[in-house]
Amino acid sequence: MSGFAPDHVGADVRVSPNFGPRRDGMVPDALVLHYTGMKTGAGAESWLCDPQSEVSAHYLVHEDGRIVQMVRESDRAWHAGQGSWGGLSDVNSFSIGIEIVNPGHFLGYPDFPESQIAAVIALCRDICVRHSIAPERVLAHSDVAPGRKIDPGEKFPWAVLAVSGVGHFVAPAENIDGPELAEGMAGREVEELQSMLALYGYGVEISGTYDGSTRIVVEAFQRHFRPACINGIADAATIETLRRLLAALPDGLGSRP
Ligand SMILES: [Zn+2]
Repeated sequence: MSGFAPDHVGADVRVSPNFGPRRDGMVPDALVLHYTGMKTGAGAESWLCDPQSEVSAHYLVHEDGRIVQMVRESDRAWHAGQGSWGGLSDVNSFSIGIEIVNPGHFLGYPDFPESQIAAVIALCRDICVRHSIAPERVLAHSDVAPGRKIDPGEKFPWAVLAVSGVGHFVAPAENIDGPELAEGMAGREVEELQSMLALYGYGVEISGTYDGSTRIVVEAFQRHFRPACINGIADAATIETLRRLLAALPDGLGSRP
Protein backbone atom coordinates (compact mmCIF):
# COMPACT_ATOMS: atom_id res chain seq x y z
CA MET A 1 0.00 0.00 0.00
CA SER A 2 1.47 3.31 -1.02
CA GLY A 3 -0.75 5.47 1.15
CA PHE A 4 -4.20 6.29 2.46
CA ALA A 5 -6.15 9.38 3.43
CA PRO A 6 -5.54 10.10 7.10
CA ASP A 7 -8.45 9.45 9.49
CA HIS A 8 -7.34 12.46 11.53
CA VAL A 9 -7.40 15.59 9.40
CA GLY A 10 -3.97 17.16 9.26
CA ALA A 11 -1.98 14.03 10.07
CA ASP A 12 0.89 13.11 7.79
CA VAL A 13 0.78 9.55 6.49
CA ARG A 14 3.68 7.13 6.56
CA VAL A 15 2.45 3.61 6.04
CA SER A 16 3.59 0.81 8.33
CA PRO A 17 3.38 -2.75 7.01
CA ASN A 18 2.82 -4.00 10.58
CA PHE A 19 -0.94 -4.45 10.86
CA GLY A 20 -3.76 -6.91 10.20
CA PRO A 21 -7.54 -7.16 10.46
CA ARG A 22 -9.29 -6.63 13.80
CA ARG A 23 -10.50 -9.96 15.21
CA ASP A 24 -14.15 -10.85 14.49
CA GLY A 25 -14.69 -7.49 12.82
CA MET A 26 -14.31 -5.67 16.14
CA VAL A 27 -14.46 -1.88 16.14
CA PRO A 28 -12.23 0.31 18.31
CA ASP A 29 -13.77 1.29 21.65
CA ALA A 30 -10.62 2.09 23.63
CA LEU A 31 -7.58 4.26 23.18
CA VAL A 32 -4.14 3.19 24.43
CA LEU A 33 -1.42 5.80 24.95
CA HIS A 34 2.28 4.91 24.84
CA TYR A 35 5.65 6.54 24.82
CA THR A 36 8.20 5.46 22.23
CA GLY A 37 11.09 4.81 24.64
CA MET A 38 13.68 5.54 21.97
CA LYS A 39 16.36 8.18 21.64
CA THR A 40 14.75 10.13 18.78
CA GLY A 41 11.36 10.57 17.19
CA ALA A 42 12.81 9.92 13.74
CA GLY A 43 14.26 6.62 14.96
CA ALA A 44 10.93 5.61 16.50
CA GLU A 45 9.08 6.50 13.30
CA SER A 46 11.40 4.30 11.24
CA TRP A 47 11.19 1.43 13.72
CA LEU A 48 7.38 1.43 13.73
CA CYS A 49 7.41 1.25 9.91
CA ASP A 50 10.12 -1.42 9.67
CA PRO A 51 8.74 -4.88 8.81
CA GLN A 52 11.49 -6.38 11.00
CA SER A 53 10.18 -4.71 14.13
CA GLU A 54 6.70 -6.29 13.93
CA VAL A 55 5.35 -3.37 15.96
CA SER A 56 3.33 -0.35 14.94
CA ALA A 57 0.76 2.15 16.15
CA HIS A 58 -2.07 3.98 14.47
CA TYR A 59 -0.42 7.31 15.27
CA LEU A 60 2.89 8.78 16.32
CA VAL A 61 2.98 12.24 17.90
CA HIS A 62 6.32 14.03 17.65
CA GLU A 63 7.65 16.43 20.29
CA ASP A 64 6.76 19.45 18.13
CA GLY A 65 3.18 18.24 17.80
CA ARG A 66 3.45 16.79 14.30
CA ILE A 67 1.17 13.78 13.92
CA VAL A 68 1.97 10.82 11.68
CA GLN A 69 -0.63 8.14 10.92
CA MET A 70 0.84 4.71 10.13
CA VAL A 71 -2.10 2.32 10.25
CA ARG A 72 -5.72 3.02 9.34
CA GLU A 73 -8.02 3.14 12.34
CA SER A 74 -10.14 0.34 10.87
CA ASP A 75 -7.12 -1.99 10.95
CA ARG A 76 -5.44 -3.71 13.89
CA ALA A 77 -2.09 -2.11 14.71
CA TRP A 78 0.49 -4.02 16.74
CA HIS A 79 1.01 -1.71 19.71
CA ALA A 80 -0.29 -3.27 22.91
CA GLY A 81 0.97 -6.88 22.90
CA GLN A 82 -0.07 -9.21 25.72
CA GLY A 83 -2.55 -7.66 28.12
CA SER A 84 -6.19 -7.14 29.01
CA TRP A 85 -8.77 -4.60 30.04
CA GLY A 86 -12.27 -5.19 31.37
CA GLY A 87 -11.72 -8.93 31.16
CA LEU A 88 -10.88 -8.89 27.46
CA SER A 89 -7.50 -9.80 26.02
CA ASP A 90 -6.30 -9.00 22.50
CA VAL A 91 -6.28 -5.31 23.30
CA ASN A 92 -5.08 -4.54 19.77
CA SER A 93 -8.40 -5.75 18.33
CA PHE A 94 -10.51 -3.27 20.33
CA SER A 95 -8.18 -0.28 20.59
CA ILE A 96 -6.47 2.51 18.72
CA GLY A 97 -2.82 3.02 19.70
CA ILE A 98 -1.00 6.33 19.91
CA GLU A 99 2.78 6.43 20.35
CA ILE A 100 4.02 9.67 21.92
CA VAL A 101 7.66 10.48 21.27
CA ASN A 102 9.57 10.44 24.58
CA PRO A 103 12.82 8.59 25.34
CA GLY A 104 11.25 7.12 28.46
CA HIS A 105 12.42 6.04 31.91
CA PHE A 106 15.66 4.46 30.77
CA LEU A 107 16.85 7.46 28.71
CA GLY A 108 16.27 10.35 31.10
CA TYR A 109 12.48 10.60 30.84
CA PRO A 110 12.11 14.32 30.01
CA ASP A 111 8.83 16.19 30.48
CA PHE A 112 6.34 15.99 27.63
CA PRO A 113 6.45 19.34 25.76
CA GLU A 114 3.28 21.45 25.77
CA SER A 115 3.05 21.49 21.96
CA GLN A 116 3.12 17.71 21.95
CA ILE A 117 0.45 17.41 24.63
CA ALA A 118 -1.78 19.88 22.77
CA ALA A 119 -1.53 17.69 19.66
CA VAL A 120 -2.23 14.53 21.70
CA ILE A 121 -5.34 16.17 23.19
CA ALA A 122 -6.66 17.25 19.78
CA LEU A 123 -6.00 13.80 18.32
CA CYS A 124 -7.63 11.96 21.25
CA ARG A 125 -10.68 14.22 21.19
CA ASP A 126 -11.17 13.64 17.48
CA ILE A 127 -10.81 9.85 17.79
CA CYS A 128 -13.08 9.61 20.85
CA VAL A 129 -15.82 11.61 19.15
CA ARG A 130 -15.66 9.70 15.87
CA HIS A 131 -15.71 6.28 17.59
CA SER A 132 -17.80 7.17 20.67
CA ILE A 133 -14.98 6.07 22.99
CA ALA A 134 -15.90 6.71 26.64
CA PRO A 135 -13.44 8.78 28.72
CA GLU A 136 -12.72 5.85 31.06
CA ARG A 137 -11.50 3.84 28.09
CA VAL A 138 -8.58 6.17 27.36
CA LEU A 139 -5.82 4.05 28.90
CA ALA A 140 -2.10 3.86 29.50
CA HIS A 141 -0.17 0.96 28.05
CA SER A 142 0.78 0.25 31.67
CA ASP A 143 -2.93 -0.12 32.55
CA VAL A 144 -3.46 -2.93 30.06
CA ALA A 145 -0.06 -4.60 30.54
CA PRO A 146 0.89 -4.06 34.21
CA GLY A 147 4.32 -5.32 35.16
CA ARG A 148 5.36 -5.66 31.54
CA LYS A 149 4.99 -1.99 30.55
CA ILE A 150 5.32 1.34 32.40
CA ASP A 151 4.56 3.75 29.57
CA PRO A 152 3.59 6.56 29.09
CA GLY A 153 4.57 6.85 32.76
CA GLU A 154 3.91 9.01 35.78
CA LYS A 155 5.03 12.23 34.06
CA PHE A 156 2.29 11.95 31.49
CA PRO A 157 -0.17 14.78 32.32
CA TRP A 158 -3.45 12.87 32.65
CA ALA A 159 -4.94 15.71 34.70
CA VAL A 160 -4.28 18.19 31.88
CA LEU A 161 -5.92 15.87 29.38
CA ALA A 162 -8.93 15.42 31.64
CA VAL A 163 -9.49 19.18 31.84
CA SER A 164 -9.82 19.07 28.04
CA GLY A 165 -12.30 16.23 28.24
CA VAL A 166 -9.87 13.43 27.42
CA GLY A 167 -9.76 10.46 29.75
CA HIS A 168 -11.22 9.81 33.17
CA PHE A 169 -9.44 11.33 36.15
CA VAL A 170 -10.24 12.61 39.62
CA ALA A 171 -8.01 14.63 41.92
CA PRO A 172 -5.95 12.02 43.80
CA ALA A 173 -6.72 11.71 47.49
CA GLU A 174 -3.93 12.87 49.81
CA ASN A 175 -2.92 12.47 53.44
CA ILE A 176 -5.68 10.19 54.57
CA ASP A 177 -5.39 8.13 57.74
CA GLY A 178 -6.25 4.49 57.43
CA PRO A 179 -4.87 1.00 57.13
CA GLU A 180 -2.36 0.13 54.43
CA LEU A 181 -2.60 -3.01 52.38
CA ALA A 182 0.64 -4.50 51.14
CA GLU A 183 2.16 -7.63 49.68
CA GLY A 184 1.83 -10.66 51.94
CA MET A 185 -1.46 -9.60 53.51
CA ALA A 186 -4.76 -11.42 53.02
CA GLY A 187 -8.40 -11.04 53.90
CA ARG A 188 -11.62 -9.26 53.11
CA GLU A 189 -10.05 -5.82 52.61
CA VAL A 190 -7.58 -7.21 50.09
CA GLU A 191 -10.45 -8.91 48.29
CA GLU A 192 -12.37 -5.61 48.20
CA LEU A 193 -9.35 -3.81 46.76
CA GLN A 194 -8.93 -6.46 44.06
CA SER A 195 -12.66 -6.31 43.29
CA MET A 196 -12.53 -2.54 42.84
CA LEU A 197 -9.45 -2.74 40.60
CA ALA A 198 -11.09 -5.46 38.48
CA LEU A 199 -14.34 -3.48 38.31
CA TYR A 200 -12.41 -0.53 36.98
CA GLY A 201 -10.90 -2.76 34.30
CA TYR A 202 -7.53 -3.99 35.57
CA GLY A 203 -6.57 -7.61 34.99
CA VAL A 204 -6.24 -8.79 38.59
CA GLU A 205 -7.36 -12.02 40.21
CA ILE A 206 -9.80 -11.60 43.11
CA SER A 207 -8.13 -14.03 45.50
CA GLY A 208 -8.11 -12.16 48.80
CA THR A 209 -4.32 -12.52 48.88
CA TYR A 210 -2.08 -9.51 48.20
CA ASP A 211 0.38 -11.33 45.97
CA GLY A 212 3.07 -10.06 43.62
CA SER A 213 0.66 -9.60 40.74
CA THR A 214 -1.66 -7.51 42.94
CA ARG A 215 1.29 -5.29 43.88
CA ILE A 216 2.12 -4.83 40.20
CA VAL A 217 -1.46 -3.82 39.37
CA VAL A 218 -1.52 -1.35 42.29
CA GLU A 219 1.70 0.15 40.91
CA ALA A 220 0.08 0.53 37.48
CA PHE A 221 -2.93 2.17 39.09
CA GLN A 222 -0.72 4.60 41.01
CA ARG A 223 1.32 5.45 37.91
CA HIS A 224 -1.83 6.66 36.17
CA PHE A 225 -4.07 7.94 38.95
CA ARG A 226 -1.93 8.74 42.02
CA PRO A 227 1.57 9.41 40.62
CA ALA A 228 2.96 11.07 43.78
CA CYS A 229 3.92 7.67 45.19
CA ILE A 230 4.31 4.53 43.10
CA ASN A 231 5.22 1.75 45.50
CA GLY A 232 2.65 -1.01 45.05
CA ILE A 233 1.32 -0.44 48.56
CA ALA A 234 -2.39 0.33 48.72
CA ASP A 235 -2.38 3.07 51.34
CA ALA A 236 -5.57 4.86 52.33
CA ALA A 237 -5.05 7.58 49.71
CA THR A 238 -4.63 5.03 46.92
CA ILE A 239 -7.78 3.16 47.96
CA GLU A 240 -9.78 6.39 48.31
CA THR A 241 -8.63 7.58 44.86
CA LEU A 242 -9.84 4.29 43.39
CA ARG A 243 -13.20 4.65 45.19
CA ARG A 244 -13.63 8.18 43.84
CA LEU A 245 -12.81 7.05 40.31
CA LEU A 246 -15.39 4.29 40.44
CA ALA A 247 -17.98 6.65 41.91
CA ALA A 248 -17.31 9.16 39.12
CA LEU A 249 -18.06 6.66 36.36
CA PRO A 250 -21.24 7.30 34.40
CA ASP A 251 -23.00 4.31 35.96
CA GLY A 252 -21.42 4.98 39.35
CA LEU A 253 -19.95 1.50 39.48
CA GLY A 254 -17.66 0.19 36.80
CA SER A 255 -16.87 0.17 33.13
CA ARG A 256 -17.79 -3.25 31.84
CA PRO A 257 -17.82 -3.16 28.04
ZN1 LIG B 1 3.74 1.06 24.96
